[in-house]
Amino acid sequence: MILLTGGLGYLGSHMAAQIIEQGHEVVLVDNLSNSKIAVLDRLSQLTGRDISFVKIDVRDKAAMQEVFSQYPITQVVHFAGSKSVNESIQQPLDYYDNNVNSLISLLHVMKEAQVKTIVFSSTAAIYGEPESLPIPESARQAPITPYGRSKQICEQILQDFSNAEQGWKIAVLRYFNPAGAHSSGIIGEVPNGIPNNLVPYIAQVARDERPFLQVFGNDYNTIDGTGVRDFIHVQDLIDGHTKALAWLSTQPQAFEVLNLGRGEGVSVKQMLDAFSKAVGHELPYKVVARRDGDSASVYADASRANCLLGWQATRTVDEMAIDTWRFYEKLA
Ligand code: NAD
Ligand code: UDP
Repeated sequence: MILLTGGLGYLGSHMAAQIIEQGHEVVLVDNLSNSKIAVLDRLSQLTGRDISFVKIDVRDKAAMQEVFSQYPITQVVHFAGSKSVNESIQQPLDYYDNNVNSLISLLHVMKEAQVKTIVFSSTAAIYGEPESLPIPESARQAPITPYGRSKQICEQILQDFSNAEQGWKIAVLRYFNPAGAHSSGIIGEVPNGIPNNLVPYIAQVARDERPFLQVFGNDYNTIDGTGVRDFIHVQDLIDGHTKALAWLSTQPQAFEVLNLGRGEGVSVKQMLDAFSKAVGHELPYKVVARRDGDSASVYADASRANCLLGWQATRTVDEMAIDTWRFYEKLA
């Protein structure tokens, strides 16, 4: 049985859908700090199954011990965490507390329960401003926000823990820019408040909830002057997790750090155009000043995940736009 912490969030819910479809048993844990219980109903609707869910905080050790004693868990994917870059600058202690202490508490409980396989959600934010492109896993780490630094600390904890313990199988996955939704349109990303990220913001413009997209700068040294990122379809990203779990299960012991991206840069303007096509009309935008801390271009060298796991992202930017729009169109 696979435990997904943060299982009702954007990525956790897509992983739950995929692994249930593949026939795995799953238990989800979430404190609902950034998700809604309605996602559980949607997952049941999507999979036709009742899904085991426990509403607790991963930092609550006693409650997590209870989960491990109640369910025959063999592998864990640790999605739970706080992910807003801006919020982390305003509330650094909350970010370090949630991201770092959740991991430490989880590892204690896993160790006690003798469950030794974990996939950890890390981020390309760990690299900060890239020195060269594409970015390999060995690139310099220079995160520029408390969010990025909290994930860097988590990675270090996992590395130290792996050095000290026998038989642990650990994969650290550094995500680039996840986008898109399940092709059913039943689950997707539901941001709280005004989105910071490009794709949910464009989706709200498409729904007429915002008058226009603010494009943060068009004077970068990129294909059309707008920022370039490595957007990756959420389903491809989740495929990377299932392949990582399968690979870990063949290893006696492992600590691997892998980039998950398409390895291709897509500009803000190109993403906006893909959305306009999906929606069927031009979406309004205004070019405004650059956003502080933004790099011109960020994209992955994802060849290591390809070599090790046989994984490669296959879905296009058009599919990300179409699937996101299908989900948003249905959203009440
Ligand atoms: P999300 O906010 O949609 O999902 C995280 C879930 O974890 C939420 O449902 C939230 O309620 C829950 N949660 C948070 N703290 C918890 C705690 N202490 N105990 C129990 N539940 C808790 O985020 P997501 O997009 O699904 O991201 C999942 C992970 O991937 C996060 O760790 C995030 O930092 C990382 N990540 C996300 C992105 C992205 O763009 N989505 C990029 C890089 C890394
Ligand atoms: N961006 C933008 N307008 C927005 C949000 C984002 O122009 O309302 C740009 C941003 O400057 C960057 C790209 O879109 O070039 C991706 O930003 P996002 O916040 O989604 O991801 P990150 O910067 O964390 O990679």
